[in-house]
Amino acid sequence: MPEFQNRLTRIPELLLSWYDQNARKLPWRENHDPYRIWVSEIMLQQTRVEAVKKIYYRRFLEAFPDVFALANAAEDQVLKMWEGLGYYSRARNMQKAARLVVSEYGGEFPHTAKELAKLPGIGHYTAGAIASIAFDCPEPAVDGNVLRVLARLLAFEEDVSLQTVKNWMTEKIRTIIPENRAGDFNQSLMELGAIVCIPNGEPLCSLCPLVSICEGNYKGIADRLPVKTRKKERIVEQKTVFVLMTNEQAAFCKRPNQGLLAGMWEFPNVPGVLEEQEVLEQIKNWGLTPVRLSPIAPVKHIFTHREWNLFGWLVPVIKAEENEHFLWANQNDLVQNMTIPSAFSAFLKILKQEWNGRDNNDSTTDSSVYTRL
Ligand code: SF4
Repeated sequence: MPEFQNRLTRIPELLLSWYDQNARKLPWRENHDPYRIWVSEIMLQQTRVEAVKKIYYRRFLEAFPDVFALANAAEDQVLKMWEGLGYYSRARNMQKAARLVVSEYGGEFPHTAKELAKLPGIGHYTAGAIASIAFDCPEPAVDGNVLRVLARLLAFEEDVSLQTVKNWMTEKIRTIIPENRAGDFNQSLMELGAIVCIPNGEPLCSLCPLVSICEGNYKGIADRLPVKTRKKERIVEQKTVFVLMTNEQAAFCKRPNQGLLAGMWEFPNVPGVLEEQEVLEQIKNWGLTPVRLSPIAPVKHIFTHREWNLFGWLVPVIKAEENEHFLWANQNDLVQNMTIPSAFSAFLKILKQEWNGRDNNDSTTDSSVYTRL
């Protein structure tokens, strides 16, 4: 096995020739437009490449083809185009950053990682990725894929979630970035982590261009690297969710402007798991007359630091003309104007099925405990 420094310095040459042959064709690799690279990088922080490629990236770029379009869009429209990706604060930050790029830089993204990192929602990794891929600046872009590859390559057994370790690896990468192919080099490391040195189990070492210099493979410990400390326990919350509907409309409320899913629309809900009688009382307190109650199969939604266990009720209601508790939206409003977080997508699906005359045998609601009132 070559010496440590020797192994590091051989990475670019081995990896770049592999990348030239094996890089996946992805829409954000078609040119070096920093706007397109930025959009892809933010989306890929939370969603698989295939889903981003097939659905979200194209939809977003069609709606906002450049930084001016994004800067000038209504926030609701931006959130609508982000629907399904979660982490809506990222979409809001993107729009803030787009507005700054337009107002402060005349619509041209700054070229250095240092300047890019001053924009909302752009951290060190994203700044390095944009600067290197769009402008070929010799800046590292160290994400989870890169940390995994390096930890295995160097048989590095310290916790890669520590900032000190990330900093150390970032500086090691900085020393070997080739001047003329910085963007390709960063992408080749990420690509190797995504398709060969894969997470969660055995890496595909027989396909790896770095196998001759990989100490993790040499020592037979690659599959248990990288070392990561257990994440903090999630906070678990239980909620009762109400799908309150008439033939044409359903009730929604807006979440607070700060915090989780800030400013988004949701089905009315209350903390805790209500009994049937409590469900009825709650609906009457909202000034509505329930026609029937059908429990909905419980739904679990996991956020980064929080878990929601949602116990829903489908409730056709009769409402007075004015009901000030909620916004009453029809199908068209839902499609055109409102962004419903994916935590509620099971409830949204049931609502649409009800409106569109669903199959009575559908098991999403439990008809055995159906209560006609
Ligand atoms: Fe990862 Fe295996 Fe390649 Fe080492 S040889 S970098 S463990 S895929």
